[in-house]
Amino acid sequence: MKFDELNIIDPILRALENKGYKNPSPIQEKTIPLLLDDKDVIGIAQTGTGKTAAFVVPVLQKLHERSNGPRSKSPRALVLAPTRELAIQIAMSFTDYGRFLNLKHLAVYGGVSIGPQIRTLQHGVDILIATPGRLMDLMNQGKVDLGKVEFFVLDEADRMLDMGFVRDIKKIASSIPKERQGLFFSATMSNTVADLTLDFLKDPVRVDIAPEHIAVDKIEQCVFFIDQRDKIDLLIDLIKQQKMNKVLVFVGMKYRADKIVTALERAGISAEAIHGNKSQHQRTRALNNFKNGRAMVMVATDIAARGIDIKDIGHVINFDLPNEPENYVHRIGRTARAGKEGTAYSFCEACDRNFLHQIERLTKRRIEQADHKYHSLTAKNAVGNAAKPAPRRGFGGSGRGNSRGGSSGGRGGRDNRSRGNSGGRSRDSGRGRSSGSDRSGGHGRSARGGESRGRSRSGNSAGRNRSRR
Ligand code: AMP
Repeated sequence: MKFDELNIIDPILRALENKGYKNPSPIQEKTIPLLLDDKDVIGIAQTGTGKTAAFVVPVLQKLHERSNGPRSKSPRALVLAPTRELAIQIAMSFTDYGRFLNLKHLAVYGGVSIGPQIRTLQHGVDILIATPGRLMDLMNQGKVDLGKVEFFVLDEADRMLDMGFVRDIKKIASSIPKERQGLFFSATMSNTVADLTLDFLKDPVRVDIAPEHIAVDKIEQCVFFIDQRDKIDLLIDLIKQQKMNKVLVFVGMKYRADKIVTALERAGISAEAIHGNKSQHQRTRALNNFKNGRAMVMVATDIAARGIDIKDIGHVINFDLPNEPENYVHRIGRTARAGKEGTAYSFCEACDRNFLHQIERLTKRRIEQADHKYHSLTAKNAVGNAAKPAPRRGFGGSGRGNSRGGSSGGRGGRDNRSRGNSGGRSRDSGRGRSSGSDRSGGHGRSARGGESRGRSRSGNSAGRNRSRR
């Protein structure tokens, strides 16, 4: 299938060609004709599938076809995105695909001054891309009129709900005319997302791009059973031994991201952190440093990394396993963008064992185990309560008590606004008491010490000598 078989107008086809895109991705192939045909759509797809163009192209086309006379002062399309980064990226797609059209767009998001955004709005924009919080500010100040919106796009709906934006979204949606075309994108289809679609979409057509289509086939995946205290050493060894040069490391907690960056820098590895506590300026700088290669490693939390489009990431490392299996697919999808291949390594502590099972169930695939010098039998063999994160115990509670030695406070502090950020922060020394793990020492081939120079089928040294569990 070619783009020109999708009834896309010439100026957009030229823009797609300029970008070097030859064929529509599956989500684009399915969604673009539906949207051009005035249907409401719920797309189950995540970052990396080409979902942005799947709505940007038809929105541009329909606005262009319906344009007559001078530009309206109020936006005719509204795109809501959960994070600043995603909003900026969507705006870049409007720039890219709309370069031969006379449509104006603006991205508004928090963390930067509202004044310039207001001034641009006053000159009139066709398309407004917004994070819910900043849009609410603008609405409350009477600086934006949503009464002319014809297209309402909600990107990463599940993430928006997760971040506690549901009330804002409902309020925003109630300010938009009922006669509009609606599109939701969500990586997962929870009951809450389904409820939201009932409220906002009219007989939506569901387009499903299952995670396994994008991630599992092309990405080499490997799990390292390990204790918390050894994770940093393993990370440093892997990066050095395998001469990795564009590595995205995922962590569960914001403060841990900074600690890892410090440890990496101490080991001579340039690194940046991106998470919710960073200012917009810091995030942009970190992202640019990573994109242009000044920083070899980016350490990120799920929310901060959502929607970030960075090309040529060779390795994704789950320093902490995600507590929702869908997030695993999101994360590793970063290394196989637009059909490229990549490698995903996951560190699994005892208390992550159940998460690992859930991930394997979701992806319908058993992840191969790496033999390495920090191998922990405790982690590998954990069952029952030891295979789960310890229950949280209120303020500053230890949140510990299972076999995971010296590690941080369970999952309570994961970067997820709707769940708070508690959980034994001060305990995360990365050293702590012994977990009683059975480290295999010289067993297997170490990622450190360079005993072997052989290469695995993917060309990675740490992944060789894998065993099936
Ligand atoms: P997205 O899922 O929208 O974040 O897109 C993921 C990446 O795929 C981005 O870098 C896009 O620029 C790229 N992309 C989108 N559509 C296509 C296409 N049809 N062919 C090749 N790359 C694409």
